[in-house]
Amino acid sequence: MREVNVVVLPGDGIGPEVISESIRAVEIVAKDADLSITWREELMGGCSIDVHGTALTDEVLAACQASDAVFLGAVGGPKWDTTDPSKPRPEQGLLGLRSGMQLFANLRPVKPLEALWDASPLRRDRIAGTDLLVVRELTGGIYFGASGRDGDSAFDTCTYSRAEIERVAEVAFAAANGRRKKVASVDKANVLESSRLWREVVTEVGARHPEIELEHILVDNAAMQLINRPSDFDVIVTENLFGDILSDEAAMITGSIGLLPSASLGTGVAGLYEPVHGSAPDIAGKGWANPMATVLSAALMLRYSLGAPEAADRLENAVAEALNHGAWGRDLGGELGTTEIGDRLCALLAR
Ligand code: NAD
Repeated sequence: MREVNVVVLPGDGIGPEVISESIRAVEIVAKDADLSITWREELMGGCSIDVHGTALTDEVLAACQASDAVFLGAVGGPKWDTTDPSKPRPEQGLLGLRSGMQLFANLRPVKPLEALWDASPLRRDRIAGTDLLVVRELTGGIYFGASGRDGDSAFDTCTYSRAEIERVAEVAFAAANGRRKKVASVDKANVLESSRLWREVVTEVGARHPEIELEHILVDNAAMQLINRPSDFDVIVTENLFGDILSDEAAMITGSIGLLPSASLGTGVAGLYEPVHGSAPDIAGKGWANPMATVLSAALMLRYSLGAPEAADRLENAVAEALNHGAWGRDLGGELGTTEIGDRLCALLAR
């Protein structure tokens, strides 16, 4: 048996509900792959603010830094919403983890299953064949630049260095190499100086990968083309703020935010794995949350950080099979609850 350590941060709202169903499914495939996972559960987000007064304690960050992977549910909720800059906010925990673990690349695959094409707000003929990956820069840009208030004004600063752009571009080109060999780099180079540097550096990285086709798209056009011709995209690479918005837009192509996984990677093999959706306070505690996005995030964790790619394939295939056989949550217009979807998955995996 190979032994690995995973820090689990269930977080707030539906986070604990989707995490527990996912761990049930992971345990089945891990056992068959001779992988022994030690799950260390910790507080992060609003639940940590309630107990410790901060979204992420130094102790939890240290545990995450020492782990093989971090498995996160979601954080946040109305209880902790505040516009007072002196009060702690749950998202600070996420930002602290990303910078503390140096997770500079966020990967979000979007590949709608044929069985769910009609659940998408887009027409079938638009989404047919869509299989794209958004690579978002995660530790730079406007979310991490200087910000503040000055009398009646407020400011946020977007800064990027060559090194920050280069390393995330390399992740995108490496990913494209194992896919359809196309990279679309999204920026606002007609207006922003940071985007002009982005375009310059991505072009240089692209020259080192002549086998990969590179196109540059302005972010406003990219927002339109994602809806107009999603199947044309392979890998989309972009900076933090644009990536935050475009990856949610791309998410809607699948018809449900309850199906989208994400991986955040740095230079080592350790990574952070979480569903794209938030803590869904409107349905928390009702047993309605779709755990599939979290299960698919666990599959990414098995593949990228825990060295168990066959176990990852098994989980992904089980999710596809369950969905093809009607294991639909309410978010997709189905009737199954969180535990029932977990039961269906575990039954498929135990065969
Ligand atoms: P959200 O993703 O939590 O919810 C948006 C809508 O999608 C809601 O109607 C919700 O019920 C539904 N939904 C989300 N996940 C679902 C699932 N698994 N199954 C079924 N339906 C699902 O986004 P929001 O409402 O904008 O944010 C709610 C809270 O979550 C806020 O406090 C926000 O800051 C936080 N948030 C956290 C993260 C994170 O932890 N990474 C990401 C986004 C938002």
